[in-house]
Amino acid sequence: MSSGTRVLVLNAGSSSVKYQLIDMLDGSRLASGLVERIGEANGRLVHTPRSGSKRESLEVFPDHAAALKSVAEELAADGVGLDSPELAVIGHRVVHGGLRFTAPTLVTEEVLAEVRRLVPVAPLHNPANITGIEVARSLRPDLPQVAVFDTAFHATMPEHAARYAIDKAVADEHRVRRYGFHGTSHQYVSRATAALLGKDPAEINVIVLHLGNGGSASAVAGGVCVDTSMGLTPLEGLVMGTRSGDVDPGVVFHLHRVGGLTIDEIDSLLNRRSGLLGLCGDNDMREILRRAEQGDADAKLAFDTYVHRLRKYIGAYYAVLGRVDAIAFTAGVGENAAPVRAAATAGLEELGIAVDAELNSVRSGEARVISPGYARVTVAVVPTDEELEIARQAFALVHTSS
Ligand code: ADP
Repeated sequence: MSSGTRVLVLNAGSSSVKYQLIDMLDGSRLASGLVERIGEANGRLVHTPRSGSKRESLEVFPDHAAALKSVAEELAADGVGLDSPELAVIGHRVVHGGLRFTAPTLVTEEVLAEVRRLVPVAPLHNPANITGIEVARSLRPDLPQVAVFDTAFHATMPEHAARYAIDKAVADEHRVRRYGFHGTSHQYVSRATAALLGKDPAEINVIVLHLGNGGSASAVAGGVCVDTSMGLTPLEGLVMGTRSGDVDPGVVFHLHRVGGLTIDEIDSLLNRRSGLLGLCGDNDMREILRRAEQGDADAKLAFDTYVHRLRKYIGAYYAVLGRVDAIAFTAGVGENAAPVRAAATAGLEELGIAVDAELNSVRSGEARVISPGYARVTVAVVPTDEELEIARQAFALVHTSS
């Protein structure tokens, strides 16, 4: 087994690959970057070395293999190439692990076949993740490849939280149940929140609000996920940048039967043209806050709808947990949008929840408490780091299985 300490983390999407090379000695980034628009005429690679300035190359990347080859060249140019003996493992983000993969998993042919079998429940994500693994394997066939699943942290949800109340036989036949996503982030943030409080994760109950372009909430009891807002797919739950979150399933029947939309059109409507974008034409919270400030009614309604849903989940997960020690805001909106944090927690003093306006307005990349000292529940901003968590899990797996 390699004595190296570096982990390459790959997050392969349908037309993009994000990567980070992390040194596990201190968690530092040796390089990071992104290849966009793979398979299109106007591909782009942006590479950020540890020192020195970003490098951008505009070229056509016909497929993921071409993209990863260019990434390998960029890394080699920095002296941290894939052939280095320092590289211990490649960690892959894999979106859907179904019921089988509830922990980081060493990739074998059999594992890949099972991830392929899950494509029908994650048609947008798993195929790209599989391609990323196959290409990385062809570049370094001797190196362990570890899959870290977005669904894994949620596998501890009790059956009554994971089930939809539909015919059990139909649900079982088609593997219809709530899996949840963003698990790596919920896991990282719930632990980082415990660290911020100076507690062991097993001692505290946390509501994690991951608010990025996609968004999800989770209820974590003693370090274990007991409920989360995304379901069979990432469409359920909170209002997101372009996804509707919760809607009455009857909306789908209505749009089809009365509105004449096809199933694919409704899928696209709910996933790509709904949420904040559907409500006001913008999906970037910065723009929505700016427009709302200027009195724009659509932007104000989008903000209010977003916050209302968030408050409903805070209330729901308070009841699920019974006792809440902390609420953690994370990801692009959660870490940066003070007005969202303020509005989501306003008027909840009876529940022991309060946010201090001054602490809430502090801008920082560090984990920080924003509730006043007297509040029973600690409200915190806890930056997420999914890549570091993937690297940790992949590295730990190859070291314990050796
Ligand atoms: P992703 O889900 O793509 O990983 P991020 O977690 O990076 O997304 O979050 C991206 C979103 O964060 C943006 O769409 C934007 O709405 C929001 N955001 C980023 N910076 C700010 C900011 N300063 N104020 C408000 N919202 C912000």
